[in-house]
Amino acid sequence: MMFNRPLLFTRLFIMLWCVLVSAVALADIPTQVIQGSSVKLEQFQMGYFVDKTEKMLFSDVQKQEFQLSPNGVSLGTTSRMTWAKIEIENANTTPIKVYLHHPYAYHNHKVELYEVVNGTLTRERVLDMDRKETQQWMYRGSAVFDITLEPNQRKILFVKSQSFSHQWFTLNLYDEDQSKRALLGLYTDIALLAGMLLALIIYNFLLFFSSRLREHFFYACYLVAGGFWVALSYGLLADLFNVYGSITLKWHLSLVAMPIFLLLFMINIFETKKKYPIEHWALLSILTLLICDFVYGLFDMITALNYSSTLAAIMMVVSISVTISMLIRKHPIAPFFLLGHGLFAIFSTMAVLFYKGKAEFTYINSHGVGIGIMLEALVLSLIIAYRIRSLETMKAAQDELKLLASTDSLTQLFNRRHFNTEAEYLLQQAKQLQQPAAIAMLDIDHFKKVNDTHGHSFGDKVIIQVANTLMAECRGQDVLARYGGEEFIILMTNTSIGEAFNLVEQIRQELAKATVILNNTQSVNFTISAGIAAIDLENPILKNSINQADKALYQAKENGRNQSLVYKV
Ligand code: GH3
Ligand code: MG
Ligand code: MG
Repeated sequence: MMFNRPLLFTRLFIMLWCVLVSAVALADIPTQVIQGSSVKLEQFQMGYFVDKTEKMLFSDVQKQEFQLSPNGVSLGTTSRMTWAKIEIENANTTPIKVYLHHPYAYHNHKVELYEVVNGTLTRERVLDMDRKETQQWMYRGSAVFDITLEPNQRKILFVKSQSFSHQWFTLNLYDEDQSKRALLGLYTDIALLAGMLLALIIYNFLLFFSSRLREHFFYACYLVAGGFWVALSYGLLADLFNVYGSITLKWHLSLVAMPIFLLLFMINIFETKKKYPIEHWALLSILTLLICDFVYGLFDMITALNYSSTLAAIMMVVSISVTISMLIRKHPIAPFFLLGHGLFAIFSTMAVLFYKGKAEFTYINSHGVGIGIMLEALVLSLIIAYRIRSLETMKAAQDELKLLASTDSLTQLFNRRHFNTEAEYLLQQAKQLQQPAAIAMLDIDHFKKVNDTHGHSFGDKVIIQVANTLMAECRGQDVLARYGGEEFIILMTNTSIGEAFNLVEQIRQELAKATVILNNTQSVNFTISAGIAAIDLENPILKNSINQADKALYQAKENGRNQSLVYKV
């Protein structure tokens, strides 16, 4: 047999190197030495190993090289079967019980714990989220395993986390007291977040029901999907209702529904369909992709989830680009949207990187989507407030226009058109209530002469004087209008013909005494004549009553003017 010395040396060197590397890797995982009875280990070094084959036996796993890492890891979608290795030692002279917490166990498929003492497996526990009988170690959303250590005993713990898609977990060690405490306040932050989102959801649904504007509906749906996903993914639902495992998997569709509703909100609030066809096309394209992913998720959730982060990244690029384009076009709400959506994009990107295993396990990274939604929701509420304000301004402008259309610009009294509408309604009401009512027509005497003698603008002053006196003398229930050039009309509801005559007479006498100043020196007197007619309560027809009042007015003119006359059949 040939003795190949260089080859042998190379082989020996490689073997030695492998042993050395694995020895160094193993030695690198520090032992957690427990001294005294208090244990609260939330930040320590452990090892992890990813079983890509997803079917390795524990005996083989033990022999693998474990990567040194902090006690929280996020490894993406290609590490569904991940093993953690922790070494602990009881330095006390009495036995001690410690509790190993796996606080994000609810989103895993299985969690298993293997205890090894001096290379021998002493205890193994398998927790399957889909099998009720194995859930004795689940405390709401967290897996909690008790581990007993004899005096001076050293144990190696192997924890297998098997996820449905994205792999991320944390492991903590506590004594009994600290264990209870850690479980107590675990989801208060998420509950607060969900509560704030719920308030905004109710607010937006109420706005939708009162305004019927679709953007409020889509925005509320966006918050529902986001809030639900936050509660689901951050363990609040597991904590409250003890739900975990593959039953919850389908509900992750809310993560895909979220951007769908946000895009619908954008399409509506920016009115892209009508005004910005290119942006509309871009939003519709990504919307279609997301809807496809959603539908796909109904059949194969895991594959849909694998695509969701990539789609979310594309959606982010598209939506931010569209918002920048809106900003360039000076759309008034674009700055708010850019700020809100920008914040969401930043925090969600951190979260996406975390879920893909490319960012550290920190609170902000792991809660990025929730923080992003919250900040965005708060800023986008400003948009809603802005919309409400602009709608109110629009409504005020419309009211102003309506008022302008119904009033006479010279006297500020109602015009003939408005009077007719109002009077028709009031006459019907008078008929129903069987309350007497009357109509009076008033006309300035010899007004042509006033105009001819003192000029048209002086004539205007006289008309204004009559209007002011009418406004001062008439009561709240009377409807008053400038019916023509120098003709006025009054509808007096709940008024007998006698009372109507008295009121009109009072006005006539008042005006007969009034004077209008000409050129700051001369006072000019004028008079009016009036005709009054009672409303026929059996058959109240406005045109007929006006004709009757007109006839009485004509009669008053005939009789020498400066008088009031009641129409007689
Ligand atoms: P009578 O006593 O019979 O009513 O005589 P009169 O001269 O007042 O006759 P009539 O009511 O027909 O006159 C209407 C005049 O009112 C004609 C028009 O020049 C004038 N007039 C109509 N509108 C205005 C206006 O807005 N300003 C002014 N200054 N005059 C107006
Ligand atoms: Mg006239
Ligand atoms: Mg006249």
